[in-house]
Amino acid sequence: MSEPRTAQSLGLIACHPCGAVWQGATEGAACGRCGSPLHRRKPDSLNRTWALLAAAYLMYLPANLLPVMVTSNLLNTKQDTILSGVIYFWVTGAWGLATVVFVASFLVPLFKLGALTTLAWMAQRHSANNRADRARLYRIVEVIGRWSMLDVFVVALLAGLVRIQGLAEVTAGLGIAAFATVVVLTMLASLSFDPRLTWDDAQPLSTENPLHHPPHEPT
Ligand SMILES: [Zn+2]
Repeated sequence: MSEPRTAQSLGLIACHPCGAVWQGATEGAACGRCGSPLHRRKPDSLNRTWALLAAAYLMYLPANLLPVMVTSNLLNTKQDTILSGVIYFWVTGAWGLATVVFVASFLVPLFKLGALTTLAWMAQRHSANNRADRARLYRIVEVIGRWSMLDVFVVALLAGLVRIQGLAEVTAGLGIAAFATVVVLTMLASLSFDPRLTWDDAQPLSTENPLHHPPHEPT
């Protein structure tokens, strides 16, 4: 296998939308094929990621404190937050549902926020630690991002089920809007993070598998 080179080290810039690669192009110049501005890295990647993460953390509070589900029948009205809903499902014996809601609405968003904060923090510090693990972590965040709206579906499904039984009226509470905002903000934060930042200071490039031949090892 030939020596790995990065586009950056060869003075090349790839156009994100159309994939054309330009030699000697300057940052911000228009792509000669599709006209999009050329960038070596996503512009302001870390600043944007931090801003979106901060907003997501802020919305995480109302998402967990405001009711996500309002159940009303002839006698009373019951408001459930995500966690009180989980407890309610658990004590009524709906363990599967309790687990799905707990994982999808509580653990997964928390994991994504924590993972992206770690990735952005380590990229900002130009950390050389665990680069391969960080790359794996970013891929996991990307994959589970597609399932993040699961919780909104669960509430919608429940509302439908309860209505069919005709026992009570279930409506989505304000917390669902806050929760959906957290999910969207986290997805945008994951999009604005440029995973190449993790590898930018990985020098020098080894000709062998860098995992097995650390650059400091004498050859
Ligand atoms: Zn282009």
